[in-house]
Amino acid sequence: MYALADCNNFFASCERVFRPELNGKPVIVLSNNDGCAIARSNEAKALGIKMGDPYFKIKPIIEANHVAVFSSNFPLYGDMSRRVQEVLRMFSPAVEPYSIDESFLDLSGLEVADFQALAQEISRTCLRYTAIPLSVGIAPSKTLAKIASKLCKQYPRLEGGCYMYRPQDIEKVLRRFPVQDVWGIGRRSARRLADMGIRTAWDYTQLPETTVRKVFNLPGFRTWKELQGTPCIQFEDMLEPKQSICVSRSFSHDVRALDEFVEQITTFAGKAVEKLRAQGSFALEMAVFAMTNRFKENLPQSNEGRYVMFPEATQDYRTIVTTAAETARIIFHPELAYKKGGVVFTKMEQTHTPSLFDKPEDAEREARLSASIDHIKKSFGEESLLFGIQGDGKFHMAQDFKSPHYTTRWSDLPSVSVK
Ligand SMILES: [Mg+2]
Repeated sequence: MYALADCNNFFASCERVFRPELNGKPVIVLSNNDGCAIARSNEAKALGIKMGDPYFKIKPIIEANHVAVFSSNFPLYGDMSRRVQEVLRMFSPAVEPYSIDESFLDLSGLEVADFQALAQEISRTCLRYTAIPLSVGIAPSKTLAKIASKLCKQYPRLEGGCYMYRPQDIEKVLRRFPVQDVWGIGRRSARRLADMGIRTAWDYTQLPETTVRKVFNLPGFRTWKELQGTPCIQFEDMLEPKQSICVSRSFSHDVRALDEFVEQITTFAGKAVEKLRAQGSFALEMAVFAMTNRFKENLPQSNEGRYVMFPEATQDYRTIVTTAAETARIIFHPELAYKKGGVVFTKMEQTHTPSLFDKPEDAEREARLSASIDHIKKSFGEESLLFGIQGDGKFHMAQDFKSPHYTTRWSDLPSVSVK
């Protein structure tokens, strides 16, 4: 059996953890630069606010209904996500984070008398320990577990847990489940299926195996088997490291000064190294890119990138950040106003062979330094340790409604007065 634990309206729920007076009230969270709604509490959904609605468009609804608005606070969400995973690990040794708000649990080999009760207990425990509401679906395959967790959201009487295993129950659910909402069915397959007259997940399971294999290849076949209750998607399938890592953002204002440009690019580079190290990879090639605002047609336009090869694969903070700074200086043009920039590792390796010309003690010293940087950032927050060249290490983004870093910054700890 597999479980899928999905945090309900995750970012909005995180904001409520430390603002309990917002329970039962409409809450939304905005994307980077306060662009559009990326999370909505149920009350905000009921007001008709859609995923991806631009802030300016929904402002009248927000004002008329006193919707609480937050800029995204990723350090808070990341930390809450870690806490949720800790709770999940109480229930199974095999927890596989799938995204910031979803994890799979492998329940095979565990002695469980009542899976329905277990699903509800996981959800209840998570709420008690972290104040984050959770939907837990348990089923014979990951794909079915995902569907089961969606049912929890539709039916509050399930109390956050849904165990789906009897063939007749699965059939009943699949007959009403739109095929395009099935995990693993991409937009292109969905269009294909619509053309073939396949509307529900159940219709899909009724296609002959040869058609599925021919039209939808191996991934489509796996989904087909999974919907029939045969697990085909293994745990390690998801654990493959990313093939490229990119950190890029729009700036809140036009960047025209070289120093500020370098600060931003090196800040992106630092974040990219964090991601690189977290998945245990080494970068061989990096691209630094920057572009102007194409909507400001009266200004000179540019969209420039430059690739650099490292002499050998590296995951060293100093090497990568300094290289990014050098590259940023090369691509910068003082007559331009930059709107966006980024750093991407385009070639990576999972292992690293030291070159003949390196002194092993140097490599070891570098590795120790980078490990210490990781440790300090993890303990004291991402901005606790920066290279001088990174300035204040902040993306210069519009974030007018950001909540405090309640759980990751000492100065932002919530205070409680007891009378
Ligand atoms: Mg969710």
